[in-house]
Amino acid sequence: MVRVQAVAPGSLGAELGLVPGTELHAINGRALEDFLDWEFLTADDCFVLSVTLPDGDGIEYDIVRPEGLPLGVTLEAPRIRRCANHCDFCFVDGNPKGLRTPLYIRDDDYRLSFRYGNFATLTNLKPWDVERIVAYRLSPLYVSVHATNPTVRRWLLRNPEAPEIVPQLRALAQQGIKFHTQVVLVPGANDGAELVRTLTDLAALGESILSVSVVPVALTEFSKRSLVQELTGAQCRAALATVERFATRALAERGFPWCYGADDLYLQAGIPLPPPEWYGDFEQRENGVGSVRYLQTRIAAARDRLPDLTGRRIGVVTGTAMGPLMPQVLHDLGAVTGGHFEVVVVENTLFGPSVTTAGLLPAAAIEAALRGRGDLDLFLLPAEAVNDDLVFVDDVSADELAARVPVPVRLSYDFADVLSECGMRNAECGIDGRGRSRIDTRIDIPHSALRTPHCGVGEGRG
Ligand code: SF4
Repeated sequence: MVRVQAVAPGSLGAELGLVPGTELHAINGRALEDFLDWEFLTADDCFVLSVTLPDGDGIEYDIVRPEGLPLGVTLEAPRIRRCANHCDFCFVDGNPKGLRTPLYIRDDDYRLSFRYGNFATLTNLKPWDVERIVAYRLSPLYVSVHATNPTVRRWLLRNPEAPEIVPQLRALAQQGIKFHTQVVLVPGANDGAELVRTLTDLAALGESILSVSVVPVALTEFSKRSLVQELTGAQCRAALATVERFATRALAERGFPWCYGADDLYLQAGIPLPPPEWYGDFEQRENGVGSVRYLQTRIAAARDRLPDLTGRRIGVVTGTAMGPLMPQVLHDLGAVTGGHFEVVVVENTLFGPSVTTAGLLPAAAIEAALRGRGDLDLFLLPAEAVNDDLVFVDDVSADELAARVPVPVRLSYDFADVLSECGMRNAECGIDGRGRSRIDTRIDIPHSALRTPHCGVGEGRG
């Protein structure tokens, strides 16, 4: 059974009399377990829906839906599949108190992998999950492989029961399922010869593996540092040499690099990033792969829509990971608009300085960094740092933060999204520095707006 959370006014669902709290039991006699069943079974234009209304009335609707008309029903959030692993580098295990509740949930959910691009390990798949993946064609899935050597993978996941990943991927691939994969690189465990073995095994799975990203492990102040270390610069360079060897081969065989190093890996190695064309459609940008080049591409594409910002001073808040890379992005932005852009690098006061991603910045750290910065006209904040409800990781809402800082703030994914609007309505954007600080809630925040470097955490993104 799934329960209705909201019904859009004027929709087919509203016409039927569905209301929040209605229990949706079955379609054509087939029990509904979650949003996947609902979406796939209601895809037909004719079906029988069995429900119980909040007053206890049981009803069977014989629905003939006019073509393309949506039902307009939003379901309550699904119960998240919990993770069966215990990685030493797990972000969730070390979370301090006082965060958004879902951040304490270790999710490992193939449904969210398909829907939002969360990375899942597939270690908790049951036979009927595999049947659903195939029946509903949940492809592509995002999979944390880490190592194809089963012993190494079980050690990394701290899960002696973890099934072998290559046969799992192969079986699903034979049914037409494709994968974006990642390797979180832990020195002394899955780098060196193990990385070569992993990339060789994934390459042998052919076209079903759409991409592989190699991401350096990131630890927090709360990680089990006695058991897992971060990579040195030399180890990052060695890993990149392996990545580039496989990418060169893939370019010749597949026509695209296929194997990508995360931006952080290049940064820690002290090696310049590849050009934007290297990343194709930037399919792993939310995993920190090609993020910088993606931003530059977006700015270049928005060139004609960006306003003249001569004389304006705009602060761009980011984490310490993007701090050294951001100037090359802002250089492009300043050249196009004439505005003065200043990077405001914020250290993560909640998780500690080793958590460098902008997506995990707490509002308190941003507030402290913006205090006394009335010299700027506008601050752009990383939109990835808030969830669907516009709440930061430390449970402070974007509106609360906006009320506490001296300058208007806006949530932005790629700068062009906010600044191109500012060209149309300058004062409303706060670009003139007038009016009370405000946050714009109209920016579309994807459900997947939060990821750890390793896999999905609670609220969606992996
Ligand atoms: S890092 Fe991911 S796979 Fe590992 S224990 Fe945490 S949630 Fe599970």
